Amino acid sequence: MWIGLGWDLHRLVPGRPLVLAGVKIPFHLGLQGHSDADVLTHAVMDALLGAAGLDDIGAHFPDHDPEFRNAYSLDLLQRVVSMVGERGYRPRQVDAVVLAQKPRLSAYRSEMRANLARVMAVKESRVGVKATTTEGLGAIGSGEAMAAQAVALLEE
Ligand code: MG
Repeated sequence: MWIGLGWDLHRLVPGRPLVLAGVKIPFHLGLQGHSDADVLTHAVMDALLGAAGLDDIGAHFPDHDPEFRNAYSLDLLQRVVSMVGERGYRPRQVDAVVLAQKPRLSAYRSEMRANLARVMAVKESRVGVKATTTEGLGAIGSGEAMAAQAVALLEE
């Protein structure tokens, strides 16, 4: 078993879609970034890369590369799963938490889990997606940003 940790944060800005684990969530703000800025998927990708002993998401998908402009991050996750597979590993379990003051994400949890599970080819019960606020504190609490953290377990 191999374990990896991923963490990511993106600013919330007007005029951008809010995409988390490939689910487009209705909200008046979205995440700013070069790709679709899917902060949850990015944290999962970094956790998988870390567990496989690979370089991080910024090295594999640079934010100055036009190929990844507005990229759908679930497609990038698919590429990470392939890279991990080339090293002889496959995802076994992922647990993640999204830090967001707003909007409430509970209604989208099962769809987010299903998307991540499908791309990683694991059962939905092996994918945890939780959400928490920061009690109004800091940049996340004031609604300026959203963050996500993930832990991934790989098997050989
Ligand atoms: Mg990111």
